[in-house]
Amino acid sequence: MTPLLLTPGPLTTDPAVRRAMLDDWGSRDPAFIALTAELRQRLVGVANGGASHVAVPIQGSGTYVLEAAAGTLLARGDRLLVLINGAYGERMAAIAAGLGHDVETLRWDESDAIDPAAVAARLAGDPAITHVAVVHVETTTGLLNPLAAVADVVAEAGRLLIVDAMASFGALPIDLATLPAAAILASSNKCLEGTPGLGFALVDRAVLATCADRSASMSLDLYAQWQGFEANGQWRFTPPVQVVAALVEALRRLEAEGGSAARLERYTANFETLLAAAEALGLELYLDRAVQAPIIVTFRSPPHFMFEVFYHALAEAGFVIYPGKLTRGDSFRIGCIGAVRPGDFQRLAAALAPALVAATQA
Ligand SMILES: *Cc1c(COP(=O)(O)O)cnc(C)c1O
Repeated sequence: MTPLLLTPGPLTTDPAVRRAMLDDWGSRDPAFIALTAELRQRLVGVANGGASHVAVPIQGSGTYVLEAAAGTLLARGDRLLVLINGAYGERMAAIAAGLGHDVETLRWDESDAIDPAAVAARLAGDPAITHVAVVHVETTTGLLNPLAAVADVVAEAGRLLIVDAMASFGALPIDLATLPAAAILASSNKCLEGTPGLGFALVDRAVLATCADRSASMSLDLYAQWQGFEANGQWRFTPPVQVVAALVEALRRLEAEGGSAARLERYTANFETLLAAAEALGLELYLDRAVQAPIIVTFRSPPHFMFEVFYHALAEAGFVIYPGKLTRGDSFRIGCIGAVRPGDFQRLAAALAPALVAATQA
């Protein structure tokens, strides 16, 4: 039996999504051009961004699209402020700095949500900041940052917002009709429940139109990639055709499920089933419940905890979990996302007790 992946991704996918990968597609064939058009239209539709934003998929994992966005959206002389409360904020800053951009950072503890008032104050004090980057759900802990409030202070200050929505897109609400964001960045294999191999950016059309010839990279150039699609509907370089087919199937299934709101309900039910089981065993959330998103959950390791033993006991029972990623303190993480439901977490609950006993025996 293949195990269920209770991780931040890649995730358990529906068999229909995996079956969509059984066909070959000619990348320049009209059928695949139509599939690509459907992909782009559905991606922007998930965030209600059709009036303002364009979807630019790009080959690679999520980090590739972060790198493409930093290289395409920032010009020489721009200054990026990165809001950091975990490893993915750090990664965004490292990417932009590595590309030679002027990067400032504002940091919070890993257990604290970003404070929009502090962002407003920093922007007021530094008029040279042109862009702000924020991670919506910080996968390090599973913390939900206040995206709408951050977006409002950034817009009020007249700066552009870049959102790493990798862990939230498709489940948590992102409405581009009301959320002022220059770019939303995400990937195929998280809450959209596709297979790994594609990142994508939803970029404000007017912003992207100013970004010609800016990226120093040929392949990681969101403007050129966009222009390629606009010119003939084709990908500039070999597309991962099976991954595209699987993601389109996954997006059709998202719509059939009832969209992001219904998906969030399922993930929330998964989370609540998991939390009840874990708390009954004396396990504690690392974060305050108020900032814990129902995406990936960090638990504090109990005394004398051996993660490897715990991991293998759960894997034998059919569940793959994830190590912790905290800079301080021992922890482990269990994902609530993917093609999994509360019944799966009830089965997990039964496996948790013996795994915990095995993992805490001195
Ligand atoms: C998954 C993820 C990424 C991208 O990671 P890849 O391994 O490149 O797909 C970026 N940011 C966040 C918050 C993520 O959860």
